[in-house]
Amino acid sequence: MSQTDDFASLPLSPALLQGVAALGYERMTPIQAQGLPTLLQGRDLIAQAPTGSGKTAAFGLGLLHKLDPADGRTQGLVLCPTRELADQVGRQLRKLAFAIPNLKVSVLCGGMPLGPQLASLEHAPHVVVGTPGRLQELVRKQALRLDAVSVLVLDEADRMLDMGFEEPIRELVGKTPRKRQTLLFSATFPDAIRTLAAKMMREPAEVTVEGAADQPAVEQHFYEVEPDRKTPLLAALLLEFRPDSCVVFCNMRRDTEEVVGSLNHYGFAALALHGDMEQRDRDEVLVRFANRSCNVLVASDVAARGLDVQDLAAVVNYELPTDPDVYIHRIGRTGRAGRGGVALSLCSPREIARAQPIEERQGRPLRWERAAPLAGRASNVPTAPMTTLRIDAGRTDKLRPGDVLGALTGDAGLKADQVGKIDVFPTRSYVAVARAQAPQALARLREGKIKGRKFRVHKL
Ligand code: AMP
Repeated sequence: MSQTDDFASLPLSPALLQGVAALGYERMTPIQAQGLPTLLQGRDLIAQAPTGSGKTAAFGLGLLHKLDPADGRTQGLVLCPTRELADQVGRQLRKLAFAIPNLKVSVLCGGMPLGPQLASLEHAPHVVVGTPGRLQELVRKQALRLDAVSVLVLDEADRMLDMGFEEPIRELVGKTPRKRQTLLFSATFPDAIRTLAAKMMREPAEVTVEGAADQPAVEQHFYEVEPDRKTPLLAALLLEFRPDSCVVFCNMRRDTEEVVGSLNHYGFAALALHGDMEQRDRDEVLVRFANRSCNVLVASDVAARGLDVQDLAAVVNYELPTDPDVYIHRIGRTGRAGRGGVALSLCSPREIARAQPIEERQGRPLRWERAAPLAGRASNVPTAPMTTLRIDAGRTDKLRPGDVLGALTGDAGLKADQVGKIDVFPTRSYVAVARAQAPQALARLREGKIKGRKFRVHKL
């Protein structure tokens, strides 16, 4: 296969080349250079390509290339193992397709309310990205039709099988036309994947690329912004990316308080964490972030060391660190275990020089993008799913997590899945309860007794 890594060598429409340029991609990654020429001819493709290889743009361009926007039926279907991945894929497809007028991409995943998804399908999207279980449900309800699908993508097929999605995948594939293009991406190729591929693909081309081993599987975005526009831009980005959990790193302590003030003003559930706080207050903030009562933590580097959340959905650099290793360390807190993560960096003109060593350290160009700071008030601000109750008793009172759980599910009448993480400290305990149940839980804990004793309880 003769290869060039210039996107212009591909038979892509000017609109898609504009999409590529808008994303800041200058050269093709190996999976793109090896896969796209074959893929654009309409052949099936099996690719062994890990997250971080640029696989999304590879299948995304293949899929968008084949679509007919004038045809109002669903022509592209992308199956993903998780909501996070589906969201990322959806975002990238929309960006690649921004210059194609009236193209609709819908992301449909489990764990989200069904009603709005059913409503969104009244007009069929051109492209559907989603998790197999939910898509199966929507197809069974006849809300989603797959009989015009011309490109089917299985993204991270190995993980989908690990998660037990084989049966819904088979059912969904069975609803698509036999004459279609099928693209399968997987980091590993166990026999189960080979069998699946043999059943649903026709003479696929095969491509293997090595993962950029030392590069984190993190989508990195850089934005140049005037210092006084940073918080409105941060708010706009949080509304766009909607991470379930996010740490905003500040270089200076006083920035953490200021940023939290602005974010709270916009309606976000944000908390500050820095070294000047009392240990007890720091513990409390860490507890509330880890138990999902707060989805944005604004922290200094040192204070964030206490954070034992393994897998942040996003990391923000409110300011670029002067040391590139600090940057790598910060963004390494997202995208763990091969899951995609997002790193957003806000960079004022006088910080631009700090980007150079970061670029050199990673050995590839950084992507600079444009985004509009939020103007006016925020709407549709993501809320945290849980609320924390603090009980003024702990290990020294012989309180154990089971006692708290028992009091809530017994007398207070909560279901076990409405009670989240329980942390017991020497003299205090914290329990996360589903937001909607918090008033009920608080009232009952105050009236009732835990282990036959009455303790003070507060809602944080
Ligand atoms: P993926 O493997 O699809 O998760 O992509 C990993 C990251 O690489 C994403 O942040 C992409 O936006 C980015 N990316 C994909 N293709 C290119 C390219 N040709 N040049 C630069 N970055 C890219």
